[in-house]
Amino acid sequence: MNNHQQVISLLDGLKLKGVSMNIDHEINEAETGKSSYLTFLKTLLESEVSYRRDRKLKRNLAGAHFQVIKKLEDFDFKRVKGITRTDIANLSDLTWLDNHENLLFFGPPGIGKTHLAVSFGLKAVEAGYTVCFERMTRLIRLLKSSEIQRSAAFRLSRIMKSSLVIIDEIGYTPIEKKEANLFFNLVSELYEKTSIIITSNKEFDSWAEMMGDQVMTVALLDRLLHHAKVFTLDGESYRIDRKEA
Ligand code: ADP
Ligand code: MG
Repeated sequence: MNNHQQVISLLDGLKLKGVSMNIDHEINEAETGKSSYLTFLKTLLESEVSYRRDRKLKRNLAGAHFQVIKKLEDFDFKRVKGITRTDIANLSDLTWLDNHENLLFFGPPGIGKTHLAVSFGLKAVEAGYTVCFERMTRLIRLLKSSEIQRSAAFRLSRIMKSSLVIIDEIGYTPIEKKEANLFFNLVSELYEKTSIIITSNKEFDSWAEMMGDQVMTVALLDRLLHHAKVFTLDGESYRIDRKEA
C-alpha cells in the first residue's frame, strides 16, 4: 500500500467519508501552493461536517414519511381565508416548535391543509428537527398493531422520539372507541413534549361524534389546544379549481 492508499484506508476505518471524498482535491490545492497547512486541515474538517449534516438531513427527510413534498414558497395565501402571509412568516421561525406548541389546520377539502402541514414539517427537517408524518388512518393501524408487528412498534418509537408529529386527515373516517382511546393515549404521551400538527375537515364540535366518546374527546381537545395555534381555513378548493383550468 502506498501512502495515499494508507490514508484512504485510515479514513475509512475512522468513518471519515466526507474527508476521503474531498482529500484528493484538497491535496491538489495545497500542493499547488493554494492553501496553507491550516487551511488544508480546516477545509477537510469542514467537508466532514457538511457531509454529516447532509446525510442526517437526508435520513430525517426519508424518516419523516412525507407522502408529497410541499413548500411554503409555493403556498398562495391570497386565495385562502384564515391564514395570512404574516402568520406564515411568524410560524416559519419555528419558535412554536421550540415551545412544544401545536398547530391545528381546519377547513374543507382541497384548501391547502396538508400543503401547510407538510411545508412546516419540511422546514423543521431542514432546521435539524426529527419529524414524523402520518395519516390518521395509518396512525390508528400502527397503534393497533404495535404489539404484534415490529415495524409498527419501530415506527411508533420514532414518533415518540420526534420533535414534531404531523397527523393528517383526522375526521375523514370515523374511528372506533377503542381506536380513539389508543389515539388519546398517544396524544397524552406527546403532550408538552412534542409539537403536533393536525389537519382536519371536521370542526371541534363534531369530534366527539367522530371519536365516539364525549368525555375522552374533551380530554383530548384539552391537551391538543392547551398550547396551540388554530387556523380555520376557508375559500375555494384548489383541487377543483385546477381541474377546471
Ligand atoms: P387539503 O389537505 O386541505 O385537502 P391539500 O393541501 O392537499 O388540501 O391541497 C390540494 C392541492 O392543492 C395540493 O396539491 C396543494 O399543494 C394545492 N394547494 C392547496 N391550497 C393551495 C394554496 N393556497 N396555494 C398553493 N397550492 C395549494
Ligand atoms: Mg389533506
